[in-house]
Formats: sequence, structure tokens, C-alpha cells
Amino acid sequence: MKILVTGGAGFLGSQLCERLVKGTHEVICLDNFFTGTKENIAPLLDFKNFELLRHDVIDPFKVEVDQIYNLACPASPIQYQTNPIKTIKTSVMGAINCLGLAKRVQAKIFQASTSEVYGDPLESPQTELYWGNTNPIGQRACYDEGKRCAETLFFDYYRQNGVAIRVARIFNTYGPKMLSNDGRVISNFIHKALNNEPIVIYGDGSQTRSFCYVDDMIDGMIAFMDQDKHVGPLNLGSEEEIPIKHLAELIIGLSNSDSEIQYANALEDDPCQRKPDLEFARSLINWEPKVGLKKGLMHLIETIQKAK
Ligand code: NAD
Ligand code: UDP
Repeated sequence: MKILVTGGAGFLGSQLCERLVKGTHEVICLDNFFTGTKENIAPLLDFKNFELLRHDVIDPFKVEVDQIYNLACPASPIQYQTNPIKTIKTSVMGAINCLGLAKRVQAKIFQASTSEVYGDPLESPQTELYWGNTNPIGQRACYDEGKRCAETLFFDYYRQNGVAIRVARIFNTYGPKMLSNDGRVISNFIHKALNNEPIVIYGDGSQTRSFCYVDDMIDGMIAFMDQDKHVGPLNLGSEEEIPIKHLAELIIGLSNSDSEIQYANALEDDPCQRKPDLEFARSLINWEPKVGLKKGLMHLIETIQKAK
């Protein structure tokens, strides 16, 4: 198949491109390199079935493809809050451009939605039926509401135009190819720990997240895209919920680090807890993560150490 991956030079996008290229698909990676890097996709440039397009999803584009994975959007709060207007344009106009293309060329289209559509959830674990608790005017809104609007657009193109959509709600994912200055918690904590520098927790560290290793996430994304029973939304993530304070202690221990833990003010609208309900993923695509948090963190720590 010929497959377009928007945001293909980013953390998840480059791992997805690699998997699809090695699965002998023809892959077009489209990226504006806002948070993506050429290094991420450098190993793919020699493959005949890989092509790179420097382009912004905000502007329309035309390519003949069978499938589209729409991943273009900065995912780290620090990155997406740098230029919030650009972030919401990327989500909304990017979705419109990708869906318009999917409609024209009759491609199946996957949307990388997010657990952030649940906002600061009032129920846990979060099932796909939960409508969420988001703040439409806060600092996270450019991302949360942008992704919520993109979901609306996907379901409207599905109902009105019969576009073959797949909407996945991705929960926190980590692994190799996250940038050292990415700003997300696992990459921040590991880089600080390996340099024996202080690890900073925002708030009291009781807020929880559930972290999924990237290989498992890519398995889930492809399995969901390739099935034809349901359009979603479908949660993909890990059920291994951990308070951020415990995550800091775990990373310090696994890195044999002398880093001390410091506390800073809590971030605005920082969700207190986040854990996916995976029953639908289990029944639809027989999927659940295989790599536990400790093992995944150890692997990432070793990868970062080797690259130093
Ligand atoms: P990332 O920031 O590493 O990758 C995003 C990619 O999109 C980058 O290569 C960036 O340059 C590109 N991009 C951004 N704006 C663009 C634009 N206007 N036009 C073209 N390209 C653009 O983030 P990631 O972790 O790889 O996330 C990929 C997708 O998955 C995002 O849509 C994100 O919202 C979603 N997601 C990720 C996670 C996670 O934990 N990694 C969780 C939930 C959802
Ligand atoms: N966090 C932290 N220190 C950091 C980075 C993040 O305490 O250096 C916290 C952040 O406040 C949030 C959690 O870790 O509660 C996850 O943050 P991240 O930016 O990775 O992603 P989010 O799930 O909030 O989008």
C-alpha cells in the first residue's frame, strides 16, 4: 500500500514510518520539522519505498495514497504552548486538509487523538464513552480543544461523506527518538537523572499518568487501522498508573543517579489522574501493552546512555 504519515519525522511518526517501510509499504512522510528532526528519519532515507515531503498540514496538499496516518501536531505541553494559535490551526486545518484528501482519493484515515480529550477527568479509568472535563479557555485548550474539534471533523466526514476513519485516543507514550529537550516528563526526568541534576516535579507529584512503551503503541495503531469492524474512538495506552513522584523515584533508582527531587508550582489545568480503560482495545484488536514500565524505562535509559 501507499501510505502518508503526517508528522512522520516526530517521535511516534518516525517509529511508525520505520515499521511501515520495513513492512514493504510505500511511505510518504510529511512534516514541517517543528518538533520533528531529520535525524529521526535519517535511517529511512536510503530505502526506495520512503519519501520525504517538507510541508505544513495547514496548507492543502495532494498525494495519491491508500492510507493516511495524521500525526502532525506537537504533543509536549511546552512545545504546543509555544505558539498556541499555530497548534490549534495544525489540529483543525490539518484535519480538514487530511480529511479532504482522504475523501478525494478514497483513502482510509487514522487520527492520532489523545487522552487529553478527557481533560482533567472526573472518572477513572477513562472509557471511550466519557465526554471529558476540559477547560476551553486555558493554556492547554489549544491542544485539548484542537484535538476535540479534529475528532468532531473526523466523525462528520464519516457520517456526511462516508470517509473511512479510525480515531485512536493515545495515552502518554515514551521511548527512543523522544528529543532530549522534548519537555515531557519521562525525557526530562531521565536526562536530569543521567546528569545527576535536580529533577523538578510540578505540584506535589500525586498526579498520575499511565505510560505506554512506543513499540506497543505502534502495534496498536497499525492493528486498529487495519481492522474494518469499528471506526473508534479507541483508547490506546497503558493501564499501569503511577504518581509522578513515584516515577521520579523509579527513574532515579534505575539510573543509579544522585539527583535530588525539587518541587515547583503546579501547572495550570494539569490533569490529576489519567488511566485508560482498555476493554474495547482488548475486544476489538486483541491488544494490550506487553512492555511493563520498569522494563521500558530501563531500555530507554540504556539507549540514551549509549548515545551519549
Ligand atoms: P512529536 O512532537 O514528536 O511529533 C509531532 C510531529 O508533527 C513532528 O515531527 C512535528 O514537526 C510535526 N508537525 C507539527 N506541526 C506540524 C504541521 N503544522 N505540519 C506538519 N507537521 C507538523 O509528537 P509525538 O509524540 O510523536 O506525537 C505524534 C501525534 O500523536 C500527535 O498528533 C500527538 O498529539 C499524538 N499523541 C501523542 C502522545 C504521546 O504520548 N506521544 C499522546 C497522545 C497523542
Ligand atoms: N511533569 C513534571 N516535571 C517535568 C515534566 C512534567 O512534574 O519536568 C509533570 C507534569 O506536570 C504532568 C506530568 O508530569 O503532571 C506529565 O507531563 P507531560 O508534560 O509529560 O505530559 P502531559 O500528560 O501533562 O501532557
